[in-house]
Amino acid sequence: MRVLVAGGAGFIGATMCARLLDRGDEVTCVDNLVTGSADNVTYLLDRKGISFVEADVSVGVPVEGSFGAVVNLACPASPADFGPLALEILDVGSRGVANLLALAERDGARFLQASTSEVYGEPLVHPQPESYWGNVNPVGPRSVYDEAKRFGEALTMAHHRKYGLEARIARIFNTYGPRMRANDGRMVSNFVNQALRGEPITVHGDGSQTRSFCYVDDEVTGLLALLDSSCTGPVNIGNDDERTVLDVAQLVLDLCGSTSGIIFVDRPADDPSQRRPDLTVAKRELGWQPATPLREGLARTIEWFKDRIGG
Ligand code: UDP
Repeated sequence: MRVLVAGGAGFIGATMCARLLDRGDEVTCVDNLVTGSADNVTYLLDRKGISFVEADVSVGVPVEGSFGAVVNLACPASPADFGPLALEILDVGSRGVANLLALAERDGARFLQASTSEVYGEPLVHPQPESYWGNVNPVGPRSVYDEAKRFGEALTMAHHRKYGLEARIARIFNTYGPRMRANDGRMVSNFVNQALRGEPITVHGDGSQTRSFCYVDDEVTGLLALLDSSCTGPVNIGNDDERTVLDVAQLVLDLCGSTSGIIFVDRPADDPSQRRPDLTVAKRELGWQPATPLREGLARTIEWFKDRIGG
C-alpha cells in the first residue's frame, strides 16, 4: 500500500514511517520541519520505498500518485510550542486537516487523524473514556492546540458522515522515546536532558499532577492497529500506568545515576492536574495494549539522548 504520512519527520511520525516500511508499505513523508527534524528525514531516506516532500500541509499537499491511506501526524504538540506557534497550530489543525481529507477522498483512501488526550482538557472524569466530552478552556493558552484537535475530530467525522470517508481517530496520550526533540520543552525530554547535563530537574508546581506515559513503539503499534481495524473511533491510544510528575523526576535521576537534584518552578496556566486513558475500547476493538514498562522505555530514551549529547 502507498501511505502518505503527514508530519513524518516528527517524533511519532518518524517511527510510523519506519514501521510502515518494515511491513512493506511505500511511504511518502510530508513535513515542513517546523518541529520535525532533518535528521529524522535523513535516517528515513536511507531506506527503500520512501520519499520525502518538504511542504506545509496547511498550504497544500504537493504529492504525486494515489494513496491507500493518509496518516495525519502533522502538528506541533509540545505545550512550549502553543505560544510561539499558536497560529501555525490552528492552521494545520484546520486547513491542514481539510487538505489531507480532500486528498484521501480523491483516492478513496483510509484517513487516520491523530487527535489527543488534550481534548479532555482538565478532566473531571478519571480515568478518561472516549465517551467523556472533556473540560477545555476555549480561550486559555492551551486552547490553540486543544480546540484545533477537537475541530480536527469534528471535521474528520463530518467527512465520514457526509462522504463515507473511511475515518480513524486516535486520541494520543503522552508519548516519549527516541527522536523527541531535546529542547522541545516536554517533561521527559527536559528531565532526561537536564539529568544527563548535570542540571537540576525543573518540576512544575509541587509535581503532584499526574500523566501516563506511553513508549513510542507501543504508541505506533496502537496507531497501526487502529489504521488496520474497522473501528472509526475515537480510540484512546496510550499507557494507563499513571505517575506523578515528581515520581518521574526521581525515576529519571535514578536511571541516569544523576545527583543534579530537583528545583520547583511555576506551573503553567491550565496545566491538567490528572490524566490517564481508559483503554477498554482499544483492548476490545483493536486487541492492543501497551507492552513497555516506564523504567525500560525511559532507560532506552536515556541511552538515545546520551549518544547525542556525548554524555
Ligand atoms: N513539566 C514539568 N517540568 C518540565 C516540563 C513539564 O514539571 O520541565 C510538567 C508539566 O507541567 C505537566 C507534565 O510535566 O504537568 C507533562 O508535561 P508535558 O509538557 O510533557 O506534556 P502535557 O501532558 O502537559 O502536554
